[in-house]
Amino acid sequence: MLSLSLLVFPSGEVEAKKTFMNLDHGRGESATADKTPGLLSFGEPDVDSSSPFPSGISPNTPASSIEADTRSDNPLNQAQTIALEARSISVTADKGDTLSTIFQRAGLTPETLHSALSSSKEARQLAQIKVGQVFEFELSSNGDLVEARSKLNELETVSLKRTPKGFTFKRDTIKPLVRSVYSHGVINSSLFVSAKRAGLSNSLLMDMANVFGYDIDFAQDLAKGDQFEVIYEEKVVNGRIVGTGNILAARFTNRGKTYTAVRYTNKQGVSGYYNAQGMSMRKAFLRTPVDFARISSRFSNGRKHPILNKIRAHQGVDYAAARGTPIKAAGDGKVILAGRKGGYGNTVILQHGSNYKTLYAHMQGFAKGIRSGSAVKQGQIIGYIGTTGLSTGPHLHYEFQVNGRHVDPLAQKKLMADPIASSEKAKFLQLSQPLMAQMDQEKASTLALNKP
Ligand SMILES: [Zn+2]
Repeated sequence: MLSLSLLVFPSGEVEAKKTFMNLDHGRGESATADKTPGLLSFGEPDVDSSSPFPSGISPNTPASSIEADTRSDNPLNQAQTIALEARSISVTADKGDTLSTIFQRAGLTPETLHSALSSSKEARQLAQIKVGQVFEFELSSNGDLVEARSKLNELETVSLKRTPKGFTFKRDTIKPLVRSVYSHGVINSSLFVSAKRAGLSNSLLMDMANVFGYDIDFAQDLAKGDQFEVIYEEKVVNGRIVGTGNILAARFTNRGKTYTAVRYTNKQGVSGYYNAQGMSMRKAFLRTPVDFARISSRFSNGRKHPILNKIRAHQGVDYAAARGTPIKAAGDGKVILAGRKGGYGNTVILQHGSNYKTLYAHMQGFAKGIRSGSAVKQGQIIGYIGTTGLSTGPHLHYEFQVNGRHVDPLAQKKLMADPIASSEKAKFLQLSQPLMAQMDQEKASTLALNKP
């Protein structure tokens, strides 16, 4: 995990901007500094269930639209409806409030609370109370509870409504309008500051750092003048931004080199980020660093062996293969060691971005050009299977570290994602090319606007 403090470096100024855009019509209208956005609607707002609350309800406000409950099982009802009016009551939860104190404040009896809560399993969801949460009660003219409801967040409302068979629970979900937003920033002091200026939330910033974290070392590689562009989803309900969704596409220019990422969801429903060509996923590590090998020993985190009753840790995976079989770099990276390392024998350690390291041990020898400090490409041959160091036969001992911790490389499925299937390549390009064009246009208009 990257921490935000890693994303900051010494002072200076920052230029950043945020524009909305209209992907709908493919015209790329840029509304710089204009909060009237062109919308890309991924989902229509659900008109029927939007704004479930009448606004401006306060305690004891008569609500003429609410009709008195005239349940036939209570003979007193009819007499009372003449004397009293149906009411809406609003109660805001304070610290220490429970559903019982909230019901009490609405003038409802513990019996009502009990019958409401015991009406269904789901009804209990109403009892999970947050400070500031508002409860709306609709009462009949004789003070009976007709309906209780509460907004859980911008998008969800739960309610209990009285029916002839007791209370029924309902959860209403508002489908927000999802629009796509373009944001561009130039780093002069810190990524954090420029992201803020560009209108990116912390979570989007972290998402972006994760998308590019494999290629760019956000702790050490950032430089003044680096730029980023992001197209991301923004969720809107009734004109208010209620949250952000996924990054759809992004570009990051680090020290003159531009990295591109496009989000794509494949036929199996798995989403990931791919470079503009879709040929390889930037974050991907090879599933295995040796072709034509078999796993001779798996990763084990030092659990007690059930039979031997001894702690046996194996912090890597062993691949048995014929002497001289090529070993490949699992991902793009930098060689931080290529040499003898005790019982590991001839060893290569690669650093990938800021979070990942891979280690390759017992090699017979190193491939040409593999030495400390050299850069390697994913799939590049770094050495050959051997049995140097403490080894009983030709094999590769392979370790995978995330943030300094050994993990099972075979369990890192997310990192080992395949490139886009060739059968989906056309579909991917249909998605990615307009996004790339959009960023080009947006950026061009940004630069034009910023010309002195
Ligand atoms: Zn091993």
